[in-house]
Amino acid sequence: MLQRSTPGKQHIRIELGIVGNCMKILILSDIHANLVALESVLKATSDIEFDDIWSLGDIVGYGPRPCESVDLVRDIAPNVSIIGNHDWAAIGRLNLDDFNPVAKFASYWTTMKLGVDHLEYLESLPNRMIEDDWTIVHGSPQHPVWEYVYNARIALTNFGFYDTRICFIGHTHIQLYITEESAQDNIQPKQPRDNEVIDVSSERIMINPGSVGQPRDGDPRAGCAIFDTDAMTVTFRRISYDIKQTQQQMKDEGLPDSLAMRLSMGV
Ligand code: ZN
Repeated sequence: MLQRSTPGKQHIRIELGIVGNCMKILILSDIHANLVALESVLKATSDIEFDDIWSLGDIVGYGPRPCESVDLVRDIAPNVSIIGNHDWAAIGRLNLDDFNPVAKFASYWTTMKLGVDHLEYLESLPNRMIEDDWTIVHGSPQHPVWEYVYNARIALTNFGFYDTRICFIGHTHIQLYITEESAQDNIQPKQPRDNEVIDVSSERIMINPGSVGQPRDGDPRAGCAIFDTDAMTVTFRRISYDIKQTQQQMKDEGLPDSLAMRLSMGV
């Protein structure tokens, strides 16, 4: 791993890693300790031979299975795994006063559950990676852990904060994509349909694969994306999972009802 700092962005750590000649990559984000959803996504896509799996952060927070989720992500996403704001919170790198009371409670609960090895793993995650011609962050290129990219204005600013052609982001829990040209024309990000395939061969583009463990676009199914680096396409997927099972786990663990309820509605 090489590290370099960017002038004027001293607090951003950039890591360059070589993944190899990947062809098909499963992109996961915002798993939020929803192990049932994560396992369902892996099962539903098991017919595809992935060359790599990436995690765009927020492995933990909100959900009932933080230890198992960290263990699984550590196994399946050994090359690209990015830190998210809830992961930061779990390792004490975030002032929890910025969280609402429910998120704060869940974050304290998560920290108590995690073992030393889980905390060390989260501590080791970079906040940005660059692979070939793509940048990978949790929030935005400008503020990799914190900023939400949800409209053309914010996207346009952020196209100026990375040099590669494609940027993969998470954090909003909403599947979307936006090209630099459409951001310049103030055309808002597009939300894809399930199984929609987009061409990513030419324009600068930001892509959010959505959230595995807590979707917020009104569709409660787990979201993910498949990046084919040969065909240069990204396929957006939605995958049903046993929401009631996750909700029961949350109840058993004493996590707030409101966090369990929102999973049914995808909000
Ligand atoms: Zn999140």
